[in-house]
Amino acid sequence: MVGVGVTIIGAGVVGLAVARELGFCSEQVLVLEKESAPGKGISSRNSEVVHAGIYYPEGSLKAALCVEGSAMLRAYCAKTGVPLKKIGKVIVAASRKEEQALEDLCRKGTANGARDLRMLSGKELKKREPNVRGVCALFSPHTGIIDSHRLVRSLEIQCLAQGAAILYRTTLFAVEKAASGFTCRARGPGGEPYSFASRVVINAAGLDADEVASLAGIDVDASGCRIYPVKGEYFRVGAAKQGLVSGLVYPVPKRNLMGLGVHATKDLSGSLRLGPNALPAKSRSYEVDPSHAQAFFESARQMLPFLEPADLAPDMAGIRPKIQRPGEPVKDFVVRHEAGQGLAGMINLIGIESPGLTSCLSLGRYVADMVRKSGLAS
Ligand SMILES: Cc1cc2nc3c(=O)[nH]c(=O)nc-3n(C[C@H](O)[C@H](O)[C@H](O)COP(=O)(O)OP(=O)(O)OC[C@H]3O[C@@H](n4cnc5c(N)ncnc54)[C@H](O)[C@@H]3O)c2cc1C
Repeated sequence: MVGVGVTIIGAGVVGLAVARELGFCSEQVLVLEKESAPGKGISSRNSEVVHAGIYYPEGSLKAALCVEGSAMLRAYCAKTGVPLKKIGKVIVAASRKEEQALEDLCRKGTANGARDLRMLSGKELKKREPNVRGVCALFSPHTGIIDSHRLVRSLEIQCLAQGAAILYRTTLFAVEKAASGFTCRARGPGGEPYSFASRVVINAAGLDADEVASLAGIDVDASGCRIYPVKGEYFRVGAAKQGLVSGLVYPVPKRNLMGLGVHATKDLSGSLRLGPNALPAKSRSYEVDPSHAQAFFESARQMLPFLEPADLAPDMAGIRPKIQRPGEPVKDFVVRHEAGQGLAGMINLIGIESPGLTSCLSLGRYVADMVRKSGLAS
């Protein structure tokens, strides 16, 4: 049977960033991707915000990898020309009651390592965002936006240049522990199944990461890794009003909310979008229900009083790979070498929701360190 050193499942930003970091490997790195091109999953359906690391619990992987990842992304983009713009973000208190929550966020973010956070008075907020309504705000000057599609392409090119092989339209459908590593079974573009040996298997399968883990025999319920997908829709604001906001505008997040709350994001072309909402995803449909426009309008009009219902048009949607049920406390990223489960050589990345785009390069480095330190590859 043919064999490779490391097999990575998934050519999203995370799988590609891991493959790129494994450039040091003397062994063949293989990436399997079921779609026809990279980044067609979660990586191309998100807010494209490079987060500063404000929200996540102190000591969590999300906090550490977000702060490290945003710095790594800035350096990467400066070097490769992938567009990234630091446009800043305000988290806006709608009432005095929310001011305390913002101050808590400011302390939490600063403890996490988010740089230069500061509170803005109502007057300072007006100066920065004259068309945004709020009694005060938390300002994060280093939050930015990135072209996620260009990032995916750039990572793909770097992986290929380092000698990694990427097989598109190829789905992994079985993994079995073997004496030294794993026997993997995949189906290629023609639908023909074949087997190969791999010493290491890294699961970066996004929304299917729980399924891939269970192919190897992991009990995803017992290990708290079942994915409960949550859809997030976006609505676009008409061109005439997109210049009324200059940076990113977020509400104060509610406790145990499934997302950060409907916020206003800009993309690199200057377009203004509202979203994402958070709805349990019953299927992989990315359609946006136009009847949700009113709810978007209601959530956003307190912060953005210039909006009218007719300004909103359905845009796009993404699906979050959450590993907690609605209403349960937010869980951290799972990045685990499964040696304890009798699967030495398998690393699972599960629940890589936001800030996974921001953290892709730091996740790549984290996994490569795990591979190195566990002696899985040199
Ligand atoms: C609505 C929304 C907004 C977000 N906003 C932000 C944000 O502003 N900032 C931020 O930092 N993060 C954000 N995120 C999170 C971020 O987009 C993700 O964390 C990140 O893109 C995850 O990348 P990935 O590579 O893990 O997953 P994916 O991009 O989904 O890649 C996984 C790949 O695995 C492939 N695959 C699955 N199963 C198999 C198999 N059996 N065989 C072969 N291939 C397989 C899939 O086809 C897919 O291409 C957001 C997410 C959503 C949903």
